Amino acid sequence: MTLAPPPATPTAATNTRFRDALADPAAFPVLVELVPWAGPLADAKAEKHLAMGRELTADPRIAGLTVTDNAGGHVRLSPLSLGRVLAEGGANVVAHVSCRDRSRGALGTLAWDLASAGMTDILALSGDYPADGYGGLSRAVFDIDSVALLQMLTEMTGPTLPFFAGAAINPFKRHENELLPQYLKLAMKIRAGARFTITQVGWDVRATDELIRWMRREGMEIPAVACVYILSAPVARYFHGDKVPGAFLSDPLAALVEEAATGPDKGRARFLEIAAMQVAVARGLGFRGVYLAGQRNAAEIDTILRLADGFAANDWRELAPQVHFPRPGTFRLFADGDASGALASDALHPDWVASRTPAARSAARRHGSLAYKASRLTHSLVFEPGSPGFRAGAAVYGKIEGRWIGKPLHVLEQAAKVPLFTCRDCGDCSLPEIAYLCPESQCVKNQRNGPCGGTRDGECEIPGKPCIWARAYDRLKPYGEEMTMLDRPATVGDNALRHTSAWGNTFLGRDHAGRRRAAGETNGGRDA
Ligand code: SF4
Repeated sequence: MTLAPPPATPTAATNTRFRDALADPAAFPVLVELVPWAGPLADAKAEKHLAMGRELTADPRIAGLTVTDNAGGHVRLSPLSLGRVLAEGGANVVAHVSCRDRSRGALGTLAWDLASAGMTDILALSGDYPADGYGGLSRAVFDIDSVALLQMLTEMTGPTLPFFAGAAINPFKRHENELLPQYLKLAMKIRAGARFTITQVGWDVRATDELIRWMRREGMEIPAVACVYILSAPVARYFHGDKVPGAFLSDPLAALVEEAATGPDKGRARFLEIAAMQVAVARGLGFRGVYLAGQRNAAEIDTILRLADGFAANDWRELAPQVHFPRPGTFRLFADGDASGALASDALHPDWVASRTPAARSAARRHGSLAYKASRLTHSLVFEPGSPGFRAGAAVYGKIEGRWIGKPLHVLEQAAKVPLFTCRDCGDCSLPEIAYLCPESQCVKNQRNGPCGGTRDGECEIPGKPCIWARAYDRLKPYGEEMTMLDRPATVGDNALRHTSAWGNTFLGRDHAGRRRAAGETNGGRDA
């Protein structure tokens, strides 16, 4: 389905304040996050948010207001409703759009609705898993993911739909097998059309420094915006209790917050000072703007920006260790850049380099799982296009197409794939792209194009399961394939194939891999 004409220049009606500021090397755009409430626009809670929006819109330092989309999986007013009022008041609204509650059709409709209301700057998100809902937990949708959403918005972009879409990135990961897939997914998001990226909330300066260094090293030229979360004691306790997916607040920072909160202002001045220091550090590290979150008011935003402007250009190096609160034992991609450990250097970390030598990979292969090795072998003999098994499979499935024998063959396929892979019979198989781990049954968000940002210590946002992308990274690394695992176009599953034979769809070129081959695209060496 084609949704729109090819990309074009924005129309005059488009509010370009944010995108213009990002394009100006001398500017340092500030975004401020507004979080809709549980209730209608006419609710008594609205006025506080609307007043803040009006004041910030009138502030020339604020490039845009972002409106969240059921953040944390909690049911709230939609970004369309609050964003429309702010946009009508002259604000450049950056609307969060999450895949959690919507099919791809509903996402397309929302994109048209947002553009019709003057909102074409979009932060494309997979979204946190639902946390509540009427009469019980709301059902998650995740029909497509953030990469596919970015690709869809890029294809929709045209004179009447001048979308400027960005991507989230979470560099605050503890383990190598969580962090590298985040970076690989960011590259995929950029290929899918992301024009900027915004970090997840976090207080690990080294992680943000490494993100900027990695983006430079890999030629990722889009601007990166750093999230600065303005603390308060109750919110810090919430973060410290691991209640925000993918976010971590350390014991030392929690202790600092509790001590500050005993003061007469409940720590308010100290928290604004910390946020101002974070803004100065982000600017020094090379971020192209900041995203202020934390539901405060225009006066406090003003205080933070004035304090940040009060620092001298080189102060950020001394400030960095003061706002650096890492998780103990965090994997580092780059070698230390200063004595405090808050900053990195451009040299890759020697431990990571050592883990990627042929000898290290060979040793790791000896300990790999037998099931995985068997899956690789079977794939190369039977499902790799051009292999003898593939040619035979194509001949057999071509002959039985539309005949009664197709049904028992499909039952046979499921008899093998359910016990081996917990197959859910989606008919458009992604097993070869995720090191033979099924996204339908083993990822609660059905992420087919890299991990979401919600993992914690390698575990899924819904605890009790390891993230399939961390496992895939571990399976691929001994073979030297971990860094290319997302070197392919975005996979978008076809719901028309549900409960049909994935083997048949593979052999007859009906699945996403077959469609890519027909379009002359590669599958990154992982044909289904
Ligand atoms: S066919 Fe679909 S449900 Fe079955 S293993 Fe493959 S991806 Fe999972």
